[in-house]
Amino acid sequence: MLDKKYQITMNPDIKKEREQRTFDPKNITYQLFGKDVMNLRQIAYEKANADPEFKVAEKFSTMPRDEVYDQSVKLYTILAQKAKEYGYDKSENNAMTFFTQAALVSTTSPFNLHHSMFIPTILSQGTDEQIAEFLPQAQAYEIIGTYAQTELGHGTFLRGLETTATYDRAKEQFIIHTPSITSIKYWPGGLGKTSNYAVVMAQLIINGKKYGMHAFLCQLRICLITSPCLVWNWEI
Ligand SMILES: Cc1cc2nc3c(=O)[nH]c(=O)nc-3n(C[C@H](O)[C@H](O)[C@H](O)COP(=O)(O)OP(=O)(O)OC[C@H]3O[C@@H](n4cnc5c(N)ncnc54)[C@H](O)[C@@H]3O)c2cc1C
Repeated sequence: MLDKKYQITMNPDIKKEREQRTFDPKNITYQLFGKDVMNLRQIAYEKANADPEFKVAEKFSTMPRDEVYDQSVKLYTILAQKAKEYGYDKSENNAMTFFTQAALVSTTSPFNLHHSMFIPTILSQGTDEQIAEFLPQAQAYEIIGTYAQTELGHGTFLRGLETTATYDRAKEQFIIHTPSITSIKYWPGGLGKTSNYAVVMAQLIINGKKYGMHAFLCQLRICLITSPCLVWNWEI
């Protein structure tokens, strides 16, 4: 049982306000996100909350950062196996994200972006050929991805992103370039230690003509995976 001082309790003022509401919050979530998705979320939360193997996450707020990282990678390895059993790993309704959020309580996971942005971007923006190549690898954790859109000087205004992807016709390659300090990719979750791939949002340029923002799948580190989630090379 978690020490009382670490248990999450609701502020009495917030509780009072919530009790005075004139609508059913459940109905609003159904309207916003869909009833099926919300029911799936509820089930994923219940499964994660009832699982004794995930209880360690409740203590993350009391641990040093390095230990949190080690424990969350360990926890996630168990979580990934369980998610596979429940079929959440292949669900297109964010089941994996719900399950992860519930299992990790209020903290985040080194693999969050992999499920919340990397895999969905492959699915929504990849060609059939790209999906066939990269999706199975991502789902098997042979590649672990993040999402690099935000830049040091640019957030909400996406057309203002400065990173370029210039097509080199002779080499048949794209050259990804961050030309200024303000174009440095900022905030990509899991990039520092965990990811070996990233979806990088960049301005596509072919023959000097700009074609707007496009997603580029970039390998960041050498993948030396001997088994899913266990070993990879940290060098960039
Ligand atoms: C915990 C965390 C994790 C993140 N992870 C990632 C990640 O993995 N990958 C990634 O690429 N990014 C990530 N981000 C970045 C996040 O997506 C950006 O913070 C977001 O795009 C907003 O950009 P900004 O913070 O620069 O805000 P700004 O663009 O400066 O916006 C500030 C405020 O102004 C409002 N605003 C902006 N423009 C307008 C307008 N024209 N009209 C009206 N209101 C406006 C915005 O809504 C916002 O409230 C993360 C951010 C956080 C906090």
